[in-house]
Amino acid sequence: MSKPIVRFAPSPTGRIHIGNARPALMNALFARREGGVFVLRFDDTDLARSKREYADSIEVDLAWLGIPPDMVVRQSERFEIYDDAVARLRDMGRLYACYETAEELEFRRKRQLARGLPPIYDRAALKLSPDEKVQLEAEGRRPHWRFRLDHRNEVWHDLVRGPSHVDTSSLSDPILVREDGTYLYTLPSIVDDIDLKITHVIRGEDHVTNTAVQIQIFEALGAKVPIFGHINLLTTTSGEGLSKRLGHLSLTSLREAGLEPQAVASLAVLVGSAESVRAVADLDELARLIDFDHISRSPAKFDENELYNLNARLIHDMSYEAVKTRLAAMDADGGEAFWLAIRGNLAKVVDAAGWWVVVRGPITPVIVDRAFVDAACNLLPPAPWDTTTWKTWTEAVKEATGIKGKALFMPLRLALTGMEHGPELAALLPLIGPERARARLSGKAA
Ligand code: GLU
Repeated sequence: MSKPIVRFAPSPTGRIHIGNARPALMNALFARREGGVFVLRFDDTDLARSKREYADSIEVDLAWLGIPPDMVVRQSERFEIYDDAVARLRDMGRLYACYETAEELEFRRKRQLARGLPPIYDRAALKLSPDEKVQLEAEGRRPHWRFRLDHRNEVWHDLVRGPSHVDTSSLSDPILVREDGTYLYTLPSIVDDIDLKITHVIRGEDHVTNTAVQIQIFEALGAKVPIFGHINLLTTTSGEGLSKRLGHLSLTSLREAGLEPQAVASLAVLVGSAESVRAVADLDELARLIDFDHISRSPAKFDENELYNLNARLIHDMSYEAVKTRLAAMDADGGEAFWLAIRGNLAKVVDAAGWWVVVRGPITPVIVDRAFVDAACNLLPPAPWDTTTWKTWTEAVKEATGIKGKALFMPLRLALTGMEHGPELAALLPLIGPERARARLSGKAA
């Protein structure tokens, strides 16, 4: 295969969410795997709704996911090439002026539906004579422009869905340019795909119908039609589609909630595929797991809680090297021994800060059995301590007091950490150290 050039093309009208991360990752990881190019294209022709701040946040989100684009283009800076394409389509008679108002179109639609007919644009504007057009314009009407479809069974081999087809006679001729001269999504997307030599258009399956239309426009413009691949959409477990409304699933919110990018990426890529959903820390490995032939045709239902499970699993295997700078940034770099002691207890990396307080103090010890804890304190082995100290100590305590099991461990844990649960005390004890351990066993905050 020649090197793919792919794109992720969000409209910067809001923050992107995990459902958008799916096509973004599929494109970026496919390009990475095949040594291709990943383009981020902002579909910002709607100048009123598009915001630079959203575009910027999308770039931050992609960088966080580990898939910064190789190239960024903004449609708002490319109107000239769209205007050229419009002129060409108009000259070849594929783009025609229509003068119906939105109300007139709505009225016709309702009438068609009432008669049991499909609500398709009837191409009435094609029958307008030059005089009638002059007349309409004299009344102050401005045209919008439709692309005249070839009515046929449009067939393509979809990268994901295999042989696909759409009967274009069941579609209205698409409006490419509005009466105020602004562009709808369809044409700029094609012109950019041609200009940037996009080889594969990989996007959500909500675009299947658009593909039939777009193939005809690619051909009308004399361009090679790219390979199309339509991936199933993410939905919630109840089958609800994701929308910008579900703000807590935005990548920004997920990042702020302390999730690891690889947890989000693993879920976004693997759900609804033939692979089991699992935590994959390495994006190259995740890229290898993408198999366009085996993506399910039904919606990919995902459970938000699964994100947190994946997150915990990633952290439980995370090396000290990988997390060191982040620990230092939250003033919780207790070294490798500390990290290895606590990582199995973390749901999020930020929780390390709490365990660092447990180690370095001050904490308020909980003393449930003063006499027992005093006796244990007197049996503390001499320094230096290591990970065998806990065993040596508790065996001595058991011998001296006859107390064992939970009755022995729990009072010591409560005194040493102030908590009922936590990392292995064998690992924590040498980190707490003799001085703090003695103070805590005597009931002092330390
Ligand atoms: N801006 C379009 C969308 O977000 C892009 C679709 C495409 O990839 O062509 O749906």
